[in-house]
Amino acid sequence: MGLGVQADLARLSALEYLHRFIARYAFLEQGSPGTLVTGNVPVGIARGDIVSDGLMLIGDAARQADPLTGGGIANAMIAAQLAAEVAAEALEQGNMSRDLLKEYQRRWTDGRGRKTARNYRLKSRFSAAERTSHGFLRAFAVATGGK
Ligand SMILES: Cc1cc2nc3c(=O)[nH]c(=O)nc-3n(C[C@H](O)[C@H](O)[C@H](O)COP(=O)(O)OP(=O)(O)OC[C@H]3O[C@@H](n4cnc5c(N)ncnc54)[C@H](O)[C@@H]3O)c2cc1C
Repeated sequence: MGLGVQADLARLSALEYLHRFIARYAFLEQGSPGTLVTGNVPVGIARGDIVSDGLMLIGDAARQADPLTGGGIANAMIAAQLAAEVAAEALEQGNMSRDLLKEYQRRWTDGRGRKTARNYRLKSRFSAAERTSHGFLRAFAVATGGK
């Protein structure tokens, strides 16, 4: 069972929310926990470059998770593919310089990164309470066409 909380909205700890949720459903209370996994998802965007000489940052290290949802798996996979393509080109040219690797950053910024940047702007512009309102969700769905 997975549960995510937004720290600036939560009144209880994630574990307390989880226990409350389980207590609501008799069938869930019949189960027993196997393991507990916890963690944070960075929900900002990178302020500077995500490449340097011989280095490309991908996924959480590059702040590529969706700032509104915290979903980072698909974005990390997309970025990994872009980085692999650029790495192959760089290897062919025998050049791992920052200038060449910046092509990965450009492909990310012009592609999926546009969506994360847009969602970061929305996150910054609307308060946490506003973002959970029905009106905001409806306006967001219309404005983005569900993408
Ligand atoms: C509890 C939780 C639930 C989540 N649920 C979802 C979800 O439902 N959907 C979704 O899209 N996203 C979810 N996310 C976000 C998502 O997991 C991350 O955005 C995504 O996994 C980022 O991928 P990554 O490759 O950048 O990092 P990671 O998946 O964290 O991979 C980094 C890897 O590097 C390893 N590592 C760290 N340090 C070293 C080191 N020094 N040497 C060698 N290896 C090292 C780590 O062990 C890890 O395996 C969740 C995150 C958390 C914490």
